[in-house]
Amino acid sequence: MKFISTRGQAPALSFEEAVLTGLASDGGLYVPETLPHFSKETIASWAGLSYQALAFEIIKPFVDGELTDTELKAIIDKAYASFRHDAIAPMVQTGHNEWVLELFQGPTLAFKDFALQFLGHLLDHILAKRNQKVVVMGATSGDTGSAAIEGCSRCDNIDIFILHPHERVSEVQRKQMTSVLAPNVHNIALKGNFDDCQNMVKASFANQSFLPEGRQLVAVNSINWARIMAQIVYYFYAALALGGPHRPVSFSVPTGNFGDIFAGYLASKMGLPIEQLIIATNANDILHRCISDNDHSKKPLVHSLSPSMDIMVSSNFERLLFDLYDRDGAAISGLMEEFKSGAMTLSDAALAKARELFSSHRLDDQAMTRIIGQVYEQTGYLLDPHTAIGVEAARVKRKNTHTPMVCLATAHPAKFPEAVKQATRHVEPALPPHMADLFERKEQYDVLENDTAAVQQFVAKNIRA
Ligand SMILES: *Cc1c(COP(=O)(O)O)cnc(C)c1O
Repeated sequence: MKFISTRGQAPALSFEEAVLTGLASDGGLYVPETLPHFSKETIASWAGLSYQALAFEIIKPFVDGELTDTELKAIIDKAYASFRHDAIAPMVQTGHNEWVLELFQGPTLAFKDFALQFLGHLLDHILAKRNQKVVVMGATSGDTGSAAIEGCSRCDNIDIFILHPHERVSEVQRKQMTSVLAPNVHNIALKGNFDDCQNMVKASFANQSFLPEGRQLVAVNSINWARIMAQIVYYFYAALALGGPHRPVSFSVPTGNFGDIFAGYLASKMGLPIEQLIIATNANDILHRCISDNDHSKKPLVHSLSPSMDIMVSSNFERLLFDLYDRDGAAISGLMEEFKSGAMTLSDAALAKARELFSSHRLDDQAMTRIIGQVYEQTGYLLDPHTAIGVEAARVKRKNTHTPMVCLATAHPAKFPEAVKQATRHVEPALPPHMADLFERKEQYDVLENDTAAVQQFVAKNIRA
């Protein structure tokens, strides 16, 4: 399968090349040239498959010819072996026809493990085959960093450097990153905010001359195609468990960079009957404003109690726009040029198409806190702040109660104990047993100045031979 850029100017790539490349040379994002499509009969025949077996069926068409069935199965099995629950993505009922899909059973207790456990093993496999070594560099406001580190910590062919804003991630999040003491793992606490971290990573990708001969940077942020691909699986898995594909299912997704919910959109395009996809945002609501008011304009970042959704711009939205504009790369290039001024306006046709499947809702911290308390009181179930936003958005925006509503639980409540305690009047969400000693674990990280040259020097010095 070939992968093409959303801006139409970069060369088409193979699957392996797309995974190693990240951002396209024209500034666009890679998407498959054509999507696989599964018939209702085929999807129905997958009922009862294990998560891993289902993942194989869904991922196979994307990698056909580049990975053998045996190789793909081995990568999937390794990726999900680190999950604690046999179901990998179990569901819990929280209301009438309302379900929470627990995507936090992986090693770092957030949904990003689904993609990054897979990506780590996939990359290591591709690199070993090519006899190549790479450097992973990324910026994190919390969950991506720990999931990427866990995903890459056992990879022989990867050195990983993760920047986080010094003293601006939760203690659980920091500990999860900095207590991985592998020789190829480096945590950088940058004296700046998340955008400084991200800008530094961007600058490093743009000019990689600071790296030793023969090394290149690989992006493991959510623009990496393999991450999106791995996330498609749980939409099918949840729908199959609730009577799909014979009846439609809806999903509500706590959204930041639009990677998670974009995978749901792909599932729908690939043949899964989905009635609604609800974009749930916190006060950083660019996507909610875009879908509801055609206002896609940058606003200053707000620090919320759901920090993994604190973004000003959702990078993966460009992939949806590409489809909304009938895959016209020149049109997307033009839109992105317009957006450099800080705002862009979608065409009526594009917006109408988006609204056929997507709706959106925004919640501030106060409303989010209320819903954690309410669900706990009614059911005894603890939501994390991100998941809570999705649950309330689902309740406000759902069109009918006959269609099962699946709310994606993107993080374990114990990752955000302060917010949960405040919302429930002091219920302390316990860490799962395998992480109970997290706060006693030894940490290793370096605090660096907000200075690109200093960070790049640090990276170059610490790459293994
Ligand atoms: C990353 C993250 C999100 C947002 O996912 P996107 O793919 O960026 O939209 C939501 N919740 C949690 C807990 C996350 O870690």
